[in-house]
Amino acid sequence: MRKYVIIGVQGSGKGTQSLLLARDLDLVHISVGDIFRWHVQHHTKLGAQVRRIMAAGKLVGDDLVEGVVRGRLEQHDWNFGFVIDGFPRNRRQAEFFLESYDIDGVIHLDLPDTEVRRRVLARRLCSGCGMDYNLIFDRPEAEGRCDVCGGELVAREDDTEEALAERLRTYHEKTDPVLELFRRKEYVVTVDARADIGTVQRNLRRELGLPPPEKP
Ligand code: AMP
Repeated sequence: MRKYVIIGVQGSGKGTQSLLLARDLDLVHISVGDIFRWHVQHHTKLGAQVRRIMAAGKLVGDDLVEGVVRGRLEQHDWNFGFVIDGFPRNRRQAEFFLESYDIDGVIHLDLPDTEVRRRVLARRLCSGCGMDYNLIFDRPEAEGRCDVCGGELVAREDDTEEALAERLRTYHEKTDPVLELFRRKEYVVTVDARADIGTVQRNLRRELGLPPPEKP
C-alpha cells in the first residue's frame, strides 16, 4: 500500500504526473479540484457552494474540503494506495490529514511563477469529456476541438490573469507552510517541474525509490 501527496503550484503538472504514477502502480488518483469541478458541472448543491470561490481563485472552506476528502477516502477503492492531488493546501488541512492517515511521501513539483503563468494561460479543457490540453505542449489535432470526443475546448473558469495572481498569492501564503511542515517530518521529495513530462516522472520515481516507468 502506497499513499502519496502531490503538491505544486497550478500548472506544475500535478494532475499529469499523478495519473502516470497512479496508472503504473495501480493507485487511485484523487484530485480535490476535479471533484469540485464535477460538482460545478453537474449543478449539485456542493457545486453551487464552491463555484464562485473557485472562479475567484480562492480556497474553499476547510470543513467542506475535509468532508469531501474524508468521503472520498471512505470509499476504500484504493487497495494499492492513492495519490492525492490538491490537498492539503493549508496548515489546518495538513494537520487533519496527518492525524487521519499515514503517508509514504510528499512529491513537491517545483516551478517558478513566471513559468506557471505561461503554462496556465495556455490550458484548455474539453467541455464534453473533461480531457486536458495545453496549447504549448499538448495541442489538439483540430483547433478548439477535443481529439477524443470532438467537444469544444474551453479555458478553465479560474485560468484567468486575475484568478491566477490570486492563486499564486494564496499558494505561497498558505501552501508553502504545508511543505515546511512535511519537510520537518522528512516526507518531501522536490522535483524540478520545468523538465518534460517523462523526465519529471522518472526523477520523481527515483527520488521516491520506485522503479522507473514501464512505458517511456
Ligand atoms: P485545483 O484543480 O487543484 O487547482 O483546484 C481548483 C480549485 O478548487 C482551487 O483553486 C480551490 O478553489 C478549490 N480547491 C481544490 N482543492 C482545495 C483545497 N485542498 N482547499 C481549498 N480549496 C481547494
